[in-house]
Amino acid sequence: MIAAERLPAGSIATPVAVAHGDGIGPEIMEATLAVLAAAGARLDLRPIEIGERVYRAGVSSGIDEPALATLAQTRVLLKAPITTPQGGGYKSLNVTIRKMFGLYANVRPCRALAPYVHTLHPAMDVVIVRENEEDVYGGIEHRQTADVTQCLKLITRTGTERIIRYAFEYARANGRKRVTCFSKDNIMKITDGLFHAIFEEVATEYPEIACEHLIVDIGAAKLAVNPERFDVIVLPNLYGDILSDVAAELAGSVGMAGSANIGDGLAMFEAIHGSAPDIAGTGIANPSGLLNAAVMMLAHIGQSEVAQRVQNAWLRTIEDGFHTRDIYGTQSARCLSTAEFADAIIERLGSSPRHLRAPALASAVDTAHIANATAKPAAHKERIGVDVFIDFTDGNASDLAQRLLAATRECGLDLAMITNRGTQVWPRASEMTRCVDHWRCRFTGAAPVSGTTVVKLLASIESAGLEAIKTEGLYTFDGKPGFSLGQGQ
Ligand code: NAD
Repeated sequence: MIAAERLPAGSIATPVAVAHGDGIGPEIMEATLAVLAAAGARLDLRPIEIGERVYRAGVSSGIDEPALATLAQTRVLLKAPITTPQGGGYKSLNVTIRKMFGLYANVRPCRALAPYVHTLHPAMDVVIVRENEEDVYGGIEHRQTADVTQCLKLITRTGTERIIRYAFEYARANGRKRVTCFSKDNIMKITDGLFHAIFEEVATEYPEIACEHLIVDIGAAKLAVNPERFDVIVLPNLYGDILSDVAAELAGSVGMAGSANIGDGLAMFEAIHGSAPDIAGTGIANPSGLLNAAVMMLAHIGQSEVAQRVQNAWLRTIEDGFHTRDIYGTQSARCLSTAEFADAIIERLGSSPRHLRAPALASAVDTAHIANATAKPAAHKERIGVDVFIDFTDGNASDLAQRLLAATRECGLDLAMITNRGTQVWPRASEMTRCVDHWRCRFTGAAPVSGTTVVKLLASIESAGLEAIKTEGLYTFDGKPGFSLGQGQ
């Protein structure tokens, strides 16, 4: 437990699980805890072992049962970055914790500290709200043929509604004026289309907050060139992961931004950067990202006074030009090690920044309202066909079509189209479409198409010596198709 000797009699320390992490993790965690202790944070720290050593001990999730039990007790985790071993079937521990504990919102404030930290965007003050559980981070991947691999992108109404509502509630609680949504719904009309549609739907509940939607490519370009125009940005998981690093770097350094991972029952606080193995053990890492995460944690557990003290002293240190190497520049007075930087902050506890505005600590978001999001009534769902994916190397689209037409004549379903990597190659084709060994063969019939009909179709395909590698049902919902057309269809 830290700071016990500083506690006023009767003060209760909040249990917090602490993971020192890998790479620069232990160095920046030590620095952060030293500042928290000196600032009088009332914390009952419960260290847990997660990450590289646990992976290497044979636990492929990177987290063992005792650590999970501690998390279930404390419900709060301060976590240094973890190295995810490449390959070998290891899953990212960060993603595992976020998903196991339902940490659906990842909040990443990125604010410029000009002129003290070099940035081209002195007025930048953006909060990225990243969906944290879905999208391609489900990690559902398959190799289906010799040539083709696949990753499943899942966007749900429930998950999207929660994160969009969280972004608006965050804006409302923190006096933010505008929420911008990024998606790629001009291409992924069903998945990103759902994300965008729910954004428009939920935005109507917050008339006092301006809202806009941008396609993620132009949105990213505008963020890179003119981040000052953005306030709160809400995005699906992958875009949020990438663009929050971009935003942090634009503000000064990826080493400066902290993040909160919020769920209904647990909250995890971490720097946005990784374990930086290239500088691990050299003592030059910037602990600011983890320290800023700790400030968010202190506000979250009701120790806002301590959070403010730490934040003020940190800003004053930056103003005084005491910098780590990553932010060292013309405004710097001294280049400090990780530990020296922590000492400089500790020396300034009780002082306030002279010029930099100390931002208000993030106010609590009404998560109960978010959890109670209204579910849409179930639509009438009907199967009107099936896409059968076939591994085929014995000819072209027309050869495959002839074999399928001959084999499936008695199945009650018609071959409507074949695509290759999404582009139609039968009955119409462009000579220039390059084909691989992975063919989507669309069969449709009189609705409703039964499961028995689909099984009969698959048996016919197999008896023709063709290998069906997977199927996707073609459904309509209240008469509207729940599947995409082929390119060129
Ligand atoms: P990284 O963020 O660790 O490093 C990127 C660059 O930024 C490096 O040059 C590094 O030296 C620098 N940097 C990062 N943090 C810094 C700091 N505090 N002070 C000064 N410089 C800093 O990204 P990476 O190299 O792509 O990933 C390394 C490992 O971290 C990988 O195993 C990855 O899976 C893991 N990772 C973990 C988390 C997490 O635990 N939340 C997040 C991202 C990456």
